[in-house]
Amino acid sequence: MNGTFNESFVGSIDQGTTSSRFLIFNERCEVVASHQLEFTQIYPQPGWHEHDPLEIVESVEKCIDGAIATFQAKGHSINAIKSIGITNQRETTVVWNKETGEPLYNAIVWTDTRTQALVRKLKEREGHEKLQSLSGLPLSTYPSAGKLLWLIENIPRVRDAYENGTLAFGTIDAWLIYKLNGATERDVFVTDPSNASRTLFMNIHTLQYDPVLLSFFHLDQTKVHLPTIVHSSDPKRFGSLSSTLLTGTPITGCLGDQSAALVGQKGFSAGQAKNTYGTGCFLLYNVGPSPVISTHGLLTTIAFDFQGQVSYALEGSIAVGGSSVKFLKDNFNFINESEEISALAETVEDNGGCVFVTAFSGLFAPYWIDDARGTIFGITTYTKRGHVARATLEATCFQTKAILQAMEKDSGKKLRELAVDGGMCNSDLAMQTQADLISIPVNRPAMRETTALGAAIAAGLAVGVWSSLKDVETLNADGRTTFNPAMTKDKADGMFALWEKAVNMTRGWTN
Ligand code: ADP
Repeated sequence: MNGTFNESFVGSIDQGTTSSRFLIFNERCEVVASHQLEFTQIYPQPGWHEHDPLEIVESVEKCIDGAIATFQAKGHSINAIKSIGITNQRETTVVWNKETGEPLYNAIVWTDTRTQALVRKLKEREGHEKLQSLSGLPLSTYPSAGKLLWLIENIPRVRDAYENGTLAFGTIDAWLIYKLNGATERDVFVTDPSNASRTLFMNIHTLQYDPVLLSFFHLDQTKVHLPTIVHSSDPKRFGSLSSTLLTGTPITGCLGDQSAALVGQKGFSAGQAKNTYGTGCFLLYNVGPSPVISTHGLLTTIAFDFQGQVSYALEGSIAVGGSSVKFLKDNFNFINESEEISALAETVEDNGGCVFVTAFSGLFAPYWIDDARGTIFGITTYTKRGHVARATLEATCFQTKAILQAMEKDSGKKLRELAVDGGMCNSDLAMQTQADLISIPVNRPAMRETTALGAAIAAGLAVGVWSSLKDVETLNADGRTTFNPAMTKDKADGMFALWEKAVNMTRGWTN
């Protein structure tokens, strides 16, 4: 069916950990066309995880052209796409030559743990205890800072570029914006606070780089080019596309993927929360216009910075979420497709005494154990693949419970229900298990493209496709599945106690 006359559309680049996508939304926040491509995961050594920065750009360009072909085939005109937004995997670190636009190394992905020893040394450095109150982040292998330091220390090309002042650093948003604008020709070198807040270089209160943070890492700001931090929604600062069928279309929104999912779930107000079960799993709780610094292992991050309205979030980050399912598929051939995990888990009644701490990249929130590694406890001759499948789904649900407990302590409030999205939320069994373990209802929306929608909302607000957050609040929000808790609290608490025992036993594993 053709769009109504004068209907506006907004495009959204969703650059995730395992795939890139481009989606086109209409004014009712419905997906009209989309295209998705997986790209290469590079694992050079245990614990190392890289992406090719040029392959990422290429995959995005192909996705744009792929989605546009479908869009046009449906009778729509390219001119009706008013602007595009970008959402991206966060923390992943790209370094390139500022004069040529050439990458100097593969991107180091957020899950990568090569900086473990470096982080241990940084924790001994004077002033490390101030980092969290300034940046919102505890020192760990997770933020970009350690990854950039590792590159400068270990890769001669990066060190040379640093020494001669041509080194550019960026997270994936800044890299994409720079390259999609035509790199050096136009030199649009910007990021937004939801991404910059993941570097450990940004002051969470001022939303600008902080000299105290940079000097803690011994970084000379005259030697490394950092992208300028601008609002997440802006009609001018992000430039426009210089390639693909959308050449000339302005980029007007930018949000890190988890912030975008919160926006896409319409979690605009304090007290609203969402949990995204993608490669990792990330629970964001909107705390309103002032930051709350966690004392229970959570991060403080930017939900969004829409001109005139900044919202902060408390975040619980889980390194391994849906990727645990992918692990059973790819490494052990337990299943052929991720969606088969529920059927396998349902071949048994319970976990049969198995607890799987899926600490492939250490454990993130609220534990922060960099040297933990994946461990299955409780294996006996009774154990079958179904038990391991169940224990795998439960691992993410247990960590979510631990994060919710920490959030209640930090915020002083109890969450009444949990909104969910991301690939693994398609498993009814996982979502029922989640509700059982946290003893509150879990709500899964019919509209699951929340991350992409969040970036589209940021972009559309900047060019007047929507005039306010209120305008979008009720759009495409109908139809949700609610999973109500069906397990006694005693049983849930007993299972959780066993999980916590297992977590403690993974400490101190060094290989
Ligand atoms: P990302 O945006 O981080 O790349 P997605 O939201 O696309 O991730 O989710 C992909 C992850 O979800 C994969 O790791 C996959 O194993 C998992 N997944 C996808 N579908 C299912 C399913 N039906 N049941 C369980 N896990 C799933």
